[in-house]
Amino acid sequence: SQKFGFIGLGIMGSAMAKNLVKAGCSVTIWNRSPEKAEELAALGAERAATPCEVVESCPVTFAMLADPAAAEEVCFGKHGVLEGIGEGRGYVDMSTVDPATSQRIGVAVVAKGGRFLEAPVSGSKKPAEDGTLIILAAGDRNLYDEAMPGFEKMGKKIIHLGDVGKGAEMKLVVNMVMGGMMACFCEGLALGEKAGLATDAILDVIGAGAMANPMFALKGGLIRDRNFAPAFPLKHMQKDLRLAVALGDRVGQPLVASAAANELFKGARAAGFGDEDFSAIFKTYER
Ligand code: NAP
Repeated sequence: SQKFGFIGLGIMGSAMAKNLVKAGCSVTIWNRSPEKAEELAALGAERAATPCEVVESCPVTFAMLADPAAAEEVCFGKHGVLEGIGEGRGYVDMSTVDPATSQRIGVAVVAKGGRFLEAPVSGSKKPAEDGTLIILAAGDRNLYDEAMPGFEKMGKKIIHLGDVGKGAEMKLVVNMVMGGMMACFCEGLALGEKAGLATDAILDVIGAGAMANPMFALKGGLIRDRNFAPAFPLKHMQKDLRLAVALGDRVGQPLVASAAANELFKGARAAGFGDEDFSAIFKTYER
């Protein structure tokens, strides 16, 4: 059976690693908060004490971490990935970060003789559980091929976009669109409700036309029911908008709507909604 490492067992990572285990791969895991490794260990995954131990013991290691700070700490920190990476070993960072962070990690891994691929994903908790993510890889081609059997257990569409940074850029573009869509959707629902329209009627009309999409269909009912249990935590959505706005700065592209969405999500974080689903942006309109 194939052997993989997996670092970072949050909402996404735990579901992705579970699919590797269920497919019969031998998986070595680590998570900062050890309790999140328990369920996977019970399913047969092997626990390591540090990220260093994971990459030392596996030819290819996947990571799924919160943000640039988390990705850097796991790579560069004490007992981190860099201390364990060696000749030929592969590190595949699937976290959503900015291209510069991904490039810094990639350069450091390669300097130690390892190989690096970034592979952020599109798709939320449910696609992670179902193994139907869209995987946006970029970097080492050989590692891409070697990681493919693992990718195929986690995703339904897997693409290679070029040099390290291109996967991160694609991911930020896609999520920036998603953040703006959610902000407008919630604004429309809040406006309609305040004007006295039934939420179900609004959802029905939107769902019947050219604006219908799976995200509105799924989140619309949950927002109506005020169910904001996190599938995609709001704090991560704001992080992605912040990084997209920074990418806009870098390339000189004005991002008027997305900058406004970033401020909205930042306000929702400040209001204490960061750990709820990103659809909890709706609550800022209810206050
Ligand atoms: P999550 O549930 O918040 O998990 C974050 C993970 O990062 C946890 O394992 C956490 O460890 C770890 N972490 C955070 N800071 C750390 C640090 N300083 N050192 C070591 N580990 C650290 O988030 P998620 O939803 O799984 O998302 C993970 C990544 O995927 C994010 O970049 C997110 O933007 C992206 N993403 C998410 C979705 C989604 O729908 N949820 C979809 C696509 C992409 P602890 O358990 O110890 O906190």
